[in-house]
Amino acid sequence: MTAQDLLFYSTNKISKPLNFFQAILEGLAPDRGLYMPESIPVISKEVIKDMHGLEYHQIAHLILEQFMEDPQQDLKQKCQDAYSFFPRLEAVSPSNHLLWLDTGPTASFKDFAAQMMSRLMGTKLDKDKKLLILTATSGDTGSAIARAFYQIPNINLVILFPISEVSDSQRKQMTTLGGNVDVIGIDGKFDDAQALVKRAFTDRALTKLNLTSANSINIARLLPQSVYYFWAYSRLIKNADAEIIFSIPSGNFGDMMGAILAWKMGLPIKKLIVATNANDEFPKFLQTGEYQKVEPSRKCISNAMNVGHPSNLARLIDIFGGAMDENGEVNIEPDLDKMRQLIYSCSVSDEQTRQTMQTVYKKHNIILDPHGAVGWFGMTKFLKENPLDADVKSVCLETANPAKFKEEVNKILGVTPPIPPSLANIDQADEHFLKMSSNYEDFAKYLLEHKLK
Ligand SMILES: *Cc1c(COP(=O)(O)O)cnc(C)c1O
Repeated sequence: MTAQDLLFYSTNKISKPLNFFQAILEGLAPDRGLYMPESIPVISKEVIKDMHGLEYHQIAHLILEQFMEDPQQDLKQKCQDAYSFFPRLEAVSPSNHLLWLDTGPTASFKDFAAQMMSRLMGTKLDKDKKLLILTATSGDTGSAIARAFYQIPNINLVILFPISEVSDSQRKQMTTLGGNVDVIGIDGKFDDAQALVKRAFTDRALTKLNLTSANSINIARLLPQSVYYFWAYSRLIKNADAEIIFSIPSGNFGDMMGAILAWKMGLPIKKLIVATNANDEFPKFLQTGEYQKVEPSRKCISNAMNVGHPSNLARLIDIFGGAMDENGEVNIEPDLDKMRQLIYSCSVSDEQTRQTMQTVYKKHNIILDPHGAVGWFGMTKFLKENPLDADVKSVCLETANPAKFKEEVNKILGVTPPIPPSLANIDQADEHFLKMSSNYEDFAKYLLEHKLK
């Protein structure tokens, strides 16, 4: 099997499999399933061992070229252009680490996927074809996508966000760009915004708009998110036999699916800790085997994870031999025992999140953001319950810069986090966005009237 021949099937198994570039322009499959690679290439131990000598963009190239054809041989260059930044590892103790993924242009981990995705999509467009990217965001996707696709020819963006659930800094990063980026504040929750986007994708009246998605339902978002797991491993472990533990603060499970793909590709992951906020549908499912969405989703201080039904859960269940449809109906049970061997999951309350931020600040003088704190709590809890793993290298993903939540951080710690260069100056810029209810007809009418030009 070569990358040229690799096809991507829909988790609902009705739509026909497509190659990588067809799948990313489609976004969601016509049968509303999510695209997955028919086979997952395995990276050999020797190659993993040698990664410590490679730079981030080189590891990205090594991994991505397994999944897509590269007739113009420009993937290497794209990886180099996309990744002028790379993550930062911080040792908190000899075995516990933080992986700071806030080093990109909008200071959240979503930059790692968005910067690559825009380059992959932009070059595959026919000159006379326009693409309209629709994205619902609980905060950070919108800004990362807006920045990555800003001024890319033939692509327009419409970004929907729940007005009352994003921080000022998150909002301003989307609403101050203008150009090909239109932003709509929805009077509702993230789930309402996501429901509007999902429905638009299956609305035949909108077919002529060439809609696609930049949410993590798009496989172009997931593949680049497997790279930093390899990178972190290569910086921490010189011998490719040793195992590693990752803790991932999770909402829509895109980040976690990146780790699952890395594991399938052969990265020796001992445990994946999937830490959610009070939206506890997944930890409950893992424990009981019964799946129940949290409806409406619960509003927490880790707002980018306020997800009551993670869209990528269908992919996880598929990897473990089960089937879940887009409504969260489990039609075939996955192998839960196997899933539990790899994944540990817990729900973290806002109170526990705040306490974790306070403890880590007091003990280590490190300012965590609320999302990273959820991950840190999960990791600490797991290690307490599994003392034999105390010496295994463990890495908690810090998914955003604390300055993106400076009001909240200040309230909890009494200090103002330093503003990184990527967030400086947006306070003064002019904001533009529309406000809408969560009524679908209004939204569809807006798209047809404003975007069919
Ligand atoms: C999006 C986001 C998450 C959740 O990531 P998923 O891939 O949706 O699970 C966590 N933290 C931050 C800061 C985010 O922006």
